[in-house]
Amino acid sequence: MRPALLNPLFASAQTLAGIGPRLILLLKKCLTLPPGISEPRVIDVLWHMPTGVIDRRSQPRLTEAIPGTIVTLELRVLKHKPSPRGNTKAPYKVTCEDDTGRIDLVFFHAEHKFIERQLPVGEIRFVSGRIERYGDNLQMAHPDYIVSPEAKNEMPLLEPVYPLTAGLSGKITLKAARQAVERVPDVPEWQEAQWLKARAWPNFKDAVGRVHQPHEAQDVSMGAAPWQRLAFDELLAGQLAFALVRKNLKTERGRKLSGSGEIRAKIASALPFSLTGSQTTALEEISADLAASHRMLRLLQGDVGSGKTVVALMTMAIAVEAGAQAAMMAPTEVLARQHIDTIAPLAEAAGLRLALLTGREKGKARDAVLSRLASGEIDILVGTHALFQPDVAFKDLAIAVIDEQHRFGVHQRMALQAKGANGDTNVLVMTATPIPRTLLMTHYGDLDVSKLTEKPAGRKPVVTKAAPIELLERLIDRIRAQLAEGAQVYWVCPLIETSEASDLAAAEERFAYLRQLFGDVVGLLHGGMAAKEKDETMAAFAANRLKILVATTVIEVGVNVPNANIMVIEHAERFGLAQLHQLRGRVGRGARESFCMLLYKAPLGETAEQRLKMMEETEDGFKIAEKDLELRGGGEILGARQSGAPGFRIAEVPGYENLLEAARDDAVLMLEKDPNLVSPRGQALRTLLYLFECDEAVRLFRAA
Ligand code: ADP
Ligand code: MG
Repeated sequence: MRPALLNPLFASAQTLAGIGPRLILLLKKCLTLPPGISEPRVIDVLWHMPTGVIDRRSQPRLTEAIPGTIVTLELRVLKHKPSPRGNTKAPYKVTCEDDTGRIDLVFFHAEHKFIERQLPVGEIRFVSGRIERYGDNLQMAHPDYIVSPEAKNEMPLLEPVYPLTAGLSGKITLKAARQAVERVPDVPEWQEAQWLKARAWPNFKDAVGRVHQPHEAQDVSMGAAPWQRLAFDELLAGQLAFALVRKNLKTERGRKLSGSGEIRAKIASALPFSLTGSQTTALEEISADLAASHRMLRLLQGDVGSGKTVVALMTMAIAVEAGAQAAMMAPTEVLARQHIDTIAPLAEAAGLRLALLTGREKGKARDAVLSRLASGEIDILVGTHALFQPDVAFKDLAIAVIDEQHRFGVHQRMALQAKGANGDTNVLVMTATPIPRTLLMTHYGDLDVSKLTEKPAGRKPVVTKAAPIELLERLIDRIRAQLAEGAQVYWVCPLIETSEASDLAAAEERFAYLRQLFGDVVGLLHGGMAAKEKDETMAAFAANRLKILVATTVIEVGVNVPNANIMVIEHAERFGLAQLHQLRGRVGRGARESFCMLLYKAPLGETAEQRLKMMEETEDGFKIAEKDLELRGGGEILGARQSGAPGFRIAEVPGYENLLEAARDDAVLMLEKDPNLVSPRGQALRTLLYLFECDEAVRLFRAA
């Protein structure tokens, strides 16, 4: 149970004064909520960090005020000059004064009653906003604050600025944030006194207070003590949670899986190539993991085209050699089918029984797969999310391989893991996104990692060129020449964020245009097509009956057509680096010289320009990932948006790497000293884990 003292923070944000059913919806739009939370809570308001601060501390007399700056003035109201009746364009002016001069407060489209109430003639008011010179006069248009002397404290002299959304004002947000701060209880200190003292970090309650009610303008910055403190809290919670989960995984009795090697040998001899050094090393690491008594949780990182599929198949073969079953999950149906196609001949040579399960298998066909799966007549099941369905039951699932991990969330991974009879399924996740170590650590803790660093022999470099769309005709001429030599082309159409419909329209338009030029060797592939059509189109391209495949990003991951050697990406400026790199990885797989054309629409923004330049300069996935991290921040690389992976609220990487190692060390040391978190600091750390909603970890120490 969550400690009762935290309960006020986990109440709905509607319990805050000023937040009702309408505003809660706006808050929901603008706050980052953890996966599974649909209504903002007080704590979510607390974690809504300001992005800047408006400094209203300058309180000059009128003669001293500098036009163009934000000031807070103490004024006496002299007279109202409403806009003339019928002239809505003219503003409503209120003339005010102090001992040194006069100023007009100016309101456009104002509600007269409101102004009369706010600024009664003869009274003193504190008024804050940007002061301007207008002709010979001073004026202030639409002051941000007008308060009476008694209410002066309500005006924040250092006002935090929050990310907002239409209809949600800064004032409302600030008011909510201040109330959230008031709800923060006195919590036991979970950080070591020495550590805090050495850095002059405030306690938790003061830290959140200073973020939302800064004392200094610098308080709203990543380097400020309160932010550092909170980031460290979050990192420590994360590292502690990972350490707990890992310790549990390692000690939890997994099953020792080892096989005769017979099936693997058959697969190897059916392969038209020999394994690369890093494929062999990865397989050694994997089989050592499987033979050990703990459960495997390993990440296989390998750039696109590095040959992860074979490693996956060999891994699954170990399960079968040991008399159990394996499953492999792909993010899309196209990919699942492609895996089956690649694997099938090898599986057949090795006597493995394969089956496919996607959303499309229905009725009798599906029932047949399910019953063979339950009776153990299927060795390896390949599929999509459909593998999670509750009625999918294995006889004995020992290994689950998840391809392109960044598209799946942690929850899905755990759901698949639980498909094993004892929840002890070994998991291999494969990703083509080289995840920098800092990110891996923040999001997964010390996950075991195998890397495929060599490209299979015969891989060709891909010549990459960015060009404005105006050069389309020149490109078409080149493609015509290439087609004559037997080339095949992927043509990826823009990702337009506004709607799927317009996305599709762009692809269809390009398809029509190319068809006109090149005839029926041009095909179209998009997400909205019926699955059967998709397969047929993909198959026609793979069989070289189609020469140009126009596609939306459905081909993004994993598709393998070695003869395809040209990748055209339209509106390349709209894609992220990781995506561009993935797309480019589709070519350069066969004997032909390969090209990647990045067509963009000028003018390019600065980031987009850097991205395209990076693509021209290197094919090194790791370098690209680091640049991506620099340009975009961590959450997006891991696809947190799509997958619901754990996001960070304060401790975004890049930015807090410096604290990460320390948090990791602290977590590991702590668990060595007090594995069940029962000491006074251990108890306090439990509160921290609840506070940052590390539920998985909480469940573990609760069970202990
Ligand atoms: P990815 O890592 O992107 O999933 P794939 O597994 O699809 O890569 O492999 C890409 C291509 O490389 C496939 O055609 C595969 O048959 C081939 N391949 C894999 N391993 C080797 C190897 N050791 N030598 C030569 N070709 C290989
Ligand atoms: Mg792949």
